Amino acid sequence: PVPVLAVVGRPNVGKSTLVNRFLGRREAVVQDVPGVTRDRVSYDALWNGRRFTVMDTGGWEPDASGLQKAVAAQAELAMRTADAILLVVDSRVGATEVEQAAADVLRRSDRPVLVAATKVDDERMVAETAALWGLGLGEPYPVSGLHGRGSGDLLDAILDAL
Ligand code: GDP
Ligand code: MG
Repeated sequence: PVPVLAVVGRPNVGKSTLVNRFLGRREAVVQDVPGVTRDRVSYDALWNGRRFTVMDTGGWEPDASGLQKAVAAQAELAMRTADAILLVVDSRVGATEVEQAAADVLRRSDRPVLVAATKVDDERMVAETAALWGLGLGEPYPVSGLHGRGSGDLLDAILDAL
């Protein structure tokens, strides 16, 4: 069977843009409106001759207080259904209490978990992403879904984990 990567994170952090980058084509729905991805959507992807399935998650539009629970639930579901999980964090915002809550769940995962610090469009922003080591999920991968910077290294790490 083809291994499944689940992509989790707050609305608007850049999950779908990153998924599109993995696919090499524009397919996952990206909009400036938070929470635009209606549900879990799976896509076939290929990297270095290996197939995998990318599951783009979203669809929750809870109020601010509910977001922490919603993203934790999203992480729980990902742990049950995927072979590896990618937690996407907006590098311009950093880890909020929502990411901390997701990390609390994901640290208990028996599946590999990777952290992507996205919207790193510029080399100068890379250093700041080191703070995400604090999530306790290992090395944060700086990446730009929009420009593709860092996506090859991240994909290599994902395929190693799958
Ligand atoms: P999602 O809700 O997590 O799926 O986030 P989206 O992929 O829909 O992106 C939300 C917004 O962030 C959109 O306006 C994107 O264009 C923007 N965005 C996503 N990735 C990047 C990136 O790498 N760099 C920049 N500058 N903007 C990004
Ligand atoms: Mg989305």
